Order: sequence, then structure tokens, then C-alpha cells
Amino acid sequence: MGTQTARGLADKVRAVIFDLDETLIDSLQGHVGAHAEVCRVLGEFLRGEGYPVDEKELLTQISKLDDEMNKQFIYDRDEWWPRLLERMMIQARLPEDLVKKLTRSYWLAYASSAKPYPETLPILKYLKDRGYLLGLLSDTDRLPGMKRYRIEIQPFRDLFHITLVSGEETEQTKPSPEPFLAAAEKLGVRPEECVFVGDKPFADIEGAKKAGMRTVLVYRRDWGVKVEADYVVRSLDELRRIL
Ligand SMILES: [Mg+2]
Repeated sequence: MGTQTARGLADKVRAVIFDLDETLIDSLQGHVGAHAEVCRVLGEFLRGEGYPVDEKELLTQISKLDDEMNKQFIYDRDEWWPRLLERMMIQARLPEDLVKKLTRSYWLAYASSAKPYPETLPILKYLKDRGYLLGLLSDTDRLPGMKRYRIEIQPFRDLFHITLVSGEETEQTKPSPEPFLAAAEKLGVRPEECVFVGDKPFADIEGAKKAGMRTVLVYRRDWGVKVEADYVVRSLDELRRIL
């Protein structure tokens, strides 16, 4: 948080670039929907194979796996499901088409469950009214086109001047500085004129700092990782104090 005073950024910043999941949309709700759907589809398969799994345990394990894979930057859900069975010491082999089905089910359930936070639309309108350029930078879901689809269905889609899916529309994903620099370039501003707002210290804050941007960490939960952001907020509303 440092020594910067309130409104310290307002005269230096021209663009505000946001992360999507858990920053603008409530991924916890998305996860609840997605995990329940995977649990349903996978549970049915396993019972058919003679493995009577406890649904509650399966849900718990899916949720743990989700956090772990995110920390390791393993975004391809196809890789998750065999690991899940391994963790649960279930010997069953997952057919390729079931793996694909689980991944699709996960994302479609996620997309329909993860709604914007109540403060998302008001703060975006506030920033736009104050003349800031708005950008959205989000890593690929590793299912080509899925992240783009999830962006396009958002009610705030049209408030953004640019949107960028890193790892699909750029070479690298976060925390490489490359997608952050690409977003600034698309907006026509220098990186030091941007503030990046994101929830993951090890992806959003790390990458934006490397690109030379100012950073705001939206604290949604403790990731157990320490990367210092210029500002830490608990709600997007608090951006009004800074910008
Ligand atoms: Mg995020």
C-alpha cells in the first residue's frame, strides 16, 4: 500500500485494466455451479463403473484440485480429471470423450453461474465517466474460444475499449509481462499510465508489475502468496478513493 495518498493515481493514470474472474465476476459462484456439474457427470460415470463415490467427498476434492491447479497455472481442465481420480485413488480410466464432456460441462455451468459482483457495473460506469480508458485482460480457459465467449456474454462487455484473451490472442499468459504490454498498446497508452486491477497476486500483480504498471489487488481470499501491490482493496467500490 506504501505511502501513496488517496487520489494519488488520478493524475498519472489514463487507463484501468481489469482481470475478469474473481475480480469482476463472482467466480466462487461459478465454481459452485461448475463443481456441482462435474460432480454429477463424473459421479454417474464412476457409479456405472462400480465405484460408489461419496458425492460430498467428490465435491471437496474437485474444489481442492481447482485451487491447486490454479496455483500451478494448469488451466487445461482436460488435465484435471485424471488427476482428480488419482488423488481419490480411483483406478478407473476416463474415456477421452468423457474428459471433453467434463471440461465443457464445467465451463458452461461456470459461465451461467459466475455473475458480476453488485459493485462491478457501477464502478466501471464511474471510471468511464471520469474519462479513463477501460481494458479487460484475462487468461485463456485453455478451451479455445471459451474465455472469449464468457467475456462476450457479460453485461459490462460494451463498457470496455479493449478486451484481450492472453494465451490465445497473445503468445504468453500472465504473469508474463507480454499480454499486459499488448493490452497497453491496444489502448494506445504507455504501461506506466495503466493501473491493473486483479485478484491473483502471483498472476495479475506479478505480471502487471513486471510490465511497469501500477497495481491494485482485489483481496478476495488468501492465496498464501506474498506479492506487494500498490493498493489493496476489499471491494471494487474502494477504487473511487484512488481513481
Ligand atoms: Mg482472477
